[in-house]
Amino acid sequence: MIPSDYHVHTHLCKHAVGQVQEYLAAAKAKGIREIAFTDHAPTPDGFDARNRMIYDQYPIYEKMLEEARLDKDLVVRYGIEADFYPGCEQYLYDWLKKQNFDLVMGSIHFIGTWGFDDPDRLSEWANVDVKAVWREYLALVIKLADSGRFDVLGHPDLPKKFGHRLKDSDSKEMVQPALDRIAKAGMAIEINTSGLRRAAKEQYPSHLILELARERDIPITFGSDSHCPEHVGYEFEQAVSIARECGYTHYARFLKREKISEAL
Ligand code: ZN
Ligand code: FE
Ligand code: FE
Ligand code: ZN
Repeated sequence: MIPSDYHVHTHLCKHAVGQVQEYLAAAKAKGIREIAFTDHAPTPDGFDARNRMIYDQYPIYEKMLEEARLDKDLVVRYGIEADFYPGCEQYLYDWLKKQNFDLVMGSIHFIGTWGFDDPDRLSEWANVDVKAVWREYLALVIKLADSGRFDVLGHPDLPKKFGHRLKDSDSKEMVQPALDRIAKAGMAIEINTSGLRRAAKEQYPSHLILELARERDIPITFGSDSHCPEHVGYEFEQAVSIARECGYTHYARFLKREKISEAL
């Protein structure tokens, strides 16, 4: 059984390709029974405008997914990947309330104005203290969790994307307080297989973090972070075996922001 793919983008974000119908066809071809589109949420304040739909395009996204949901062979969930950054609170929380999402994924791609996972800004890693970056990142994760506005944390250990890892002992010490807050918020985290396509060469999060999440009963979703149809369900067999190795027997699905537990 291949689990639901809960992290799929659309061309509206300007850096993904393919028509929605092609993503649906790719999912069906892989034997996937459910996908959630989670495109990058628009920002009315111009934040990272080049990587997301224009604010006024949002009804197009809604309409595209409404059509996709007519598919009889695949369950399509209505999701969004919303950036969490200081200042987003001013519009995001109200905006989320007005939409009919099945799930809201919260992701952190920015520390200050630095898009630390942006390949165009990779060189900036040379001028920073890697451990300090992780500390700042995890402080944002805690704020995200404490806000109580998100269902799933996207790519939980994203700063390792280009290979900037913490030692296991540091990771264990620094990540646990954030996991405690995620558990307290009742949030899930995703196993995101896009890390396998990057220099990180492993899924987000690491085996170690996943074990720590399991100890806290934090639910998981699976996401390919597809920006093209071919990546739907990317390496999900491997992701499922890693989840099992870490003690998971179930994963989470969402309907109208309510969690549904599904056997693995
Ligand atoms: Zn993207
Ligand atoms: Fe992301
Ligand atoms: Fe994504
Ligand atoms: Zn993403």
